[in-house]
Amino acid sequence: MQKDQLLFTRRRALLAGAVAAGAAGTAGVLAAGAGNEPARPPSPVAGPPARRPLRPSAYRLQPMTGFGPPRAAPVRTPVRSAPLLRVSGRGRTMVLTFDDGPDPRYTPAVLDTLARYDVRAMFFVCGQMADENRDLLVRMADEGHVVGNHTWSHPLLTRLRRDRIRAEMARTSDLVEEVCGERPEWFRAPYGAWNRAAFQLGAELGMEPLAWTVDTLDWTTPGTRTIVHRVENGAAPGVVVLSHDAGGDRSQSVRALRRYLPRLLDSGYYITVPRRHSV
Ligand SMILES: [Zn+2]
Repeated sequence: MQKDQLLFTRRRALLAGAVAAGAAGTAGVLAAGAGNEPARPPSPVAGPPARRPLRPSAYRLQPMTGFGPPRAAPVRTPVRSAPLLRVSGRGRTMVLTFDDGPDPRYTPAVLDTLARYDVRAMFFVCGQMADENRDLLVRMADEGHVVGNHTWSHPLLTRLRRDRIRAEMARTSDLVEEVCGERPEWFRAPYGAWNRAAFQLGAELGMEPLAWTVDTLDWTTPGTRTIVHRVENGAAPGVVVLSHDAGGDRSQSVRALRRYLPRLLDSGYYITVPRRHSV
């Protein structure tokens, strides 16, 4: 990988992902973090996306004003048949993800903890929540976190018509772009319920589907210690952890993060965010 990927470049990533056969269907692997190696596809189900420029009508238009250097051409997003489940990086790389927010009761505390340890994470936001808490969306982006798309109102996509799925996803991407200046490059289906339309529409909107490896089940409020144990027991290179910063009482999730994050770092884990393409 290129040296310049050692530099932190928010929401710029080189996708080096490939999917591999897994127990529950298809397990995805993608490159994560800075200075990592591309994943080696164990099976030829899907390879890295072609790095071709998008059509002029594609979702991301080049800025028409300003005199800065031209931006790199965005990568075309492949249509997958299963979400990515983990990341592949050099060493003990892990990704923390927080869904359903932002929520002013919990998200600031999550952000504070991440900032305290200088760690970047992913927030799969719901448009409805984000619209009401734009300041938190701005803070996420300003502090280098990746803002992903978790639909507008958190519906079960498998029960929706295609045009409704598109609206749920597109409206959220539009809002994130309006507030943060960039469209989300990652999508996560509510309840982890994906279907073909979700994969197709997500790719159309320029987003890769990301699921998770370790589910803390924090939404069941099992107790802070249990959440901590689930993260620490599940910790391994490439693991993507699912937690929530909204959708109910998430005080356990907030407290758990304060405990497991320093311990993961002490154990030598590198907490990072996946990259899809370089600058
Ligand atoms: Zn959710």
